Amino acid sequence: TPIIQLQEIEKVYAARDGNPVQALAPVSLEIGTGEFLTIVGPSGCGKSTMLRLVAGLIPRTRGRLLMRRQEISGPQRDMGIVFQTPVLFPWRTVLDNVLLPAEVLRLPPAKSRARALELLEIVGLSDFAAKYPFELSGGMQQRVAIARSLVHEPSVVLMDEPFGALDAMTRDTMNLEIMRIWREAGTTILFVTHSIPEAVFLGERVVVMTPRPGRIAEVIDVELPAQ
Ligand code: ADP
Ligand code: ADP
Repeated sequence: TPIIQLQEIEKVYAARDGNPVQALAPVSLEIGTGEFLTIVGPSGCGKSTMLRLVAGLIPRTRGRLLMRRQEISGPQRDMGIVFQTPVLFPWRTVLDNVLLPAEVLRLPPAKSRARALELLEIVGLSDFAAKYPFELSGGMQQRVAIARSLVHEPSVVLMDEPFGALDAMTRDTMNLEIMRIWREAGTTILFVTHSIPEAVFLGERVVVMTPRPGRIAEVIDVELPAQ
């Protein structure tokens, strides 16, 4: 059963120079519960736009967007999101940054703290829980952002090229961690990248986009290797 449905979604930005930018042509897509879906395409094809729409962060111009058959209008508490560059609060420790969504949603503190520490271990940052963001490298900060996106145990996690700024080896390691988290938590993941190998490695299905205006060229089922 689909958890998210995009029905003829269009996005036109009102640009400052007066010329509207059609970022997304009508796009229809169903995302299955627990699915790992990757979206791949060249820069400017509307990948980030699609993710920001699903996240409820920007309004759509036309079309229907549903999560569990309910209209998405505004941020969803049952979602997590990771942006291209980590946005951490400098005055909060690593642990307190990870805990933020749990605090906002007023989840039980002790349980959230246990989950946050567990996630920090998964992303390899157990020893950094009490540190501040400035004491961490960019890649480590991004791993904090990943832990934060999962702390409230959301059903859906949206990732917008989260490893674009990492070196190849760290990126490969993080991809394996994301796969592990996905297998263990049963989360639905929507992952945007401009790298075809990354999209095919991670995704059960790969949505290939073409630009101007962004549309879906094809959706490819990936044959997963037996475990
Ligand atoms: P991608 O993530 O695939 O690189 P984007 O979704 O960021 O693509 O952008 C799609 C198109 O929409 C691009 O032409 C981009 O310049 C334009 N665009 C993105 N955000 C805005 C905005 N806030 N205002 C105007 N145009 C935008
Ligand atoms: P990406 O496409 O990888 O998301 P961009 O560099 O295209 O990143 O966009 C970075 C930021 O600039 C985004 O917040 C986007 O909304 C905004 N942006 C992109 N293109 C335009 C544009 N043509 N006019 C105004 N804002 C834009």
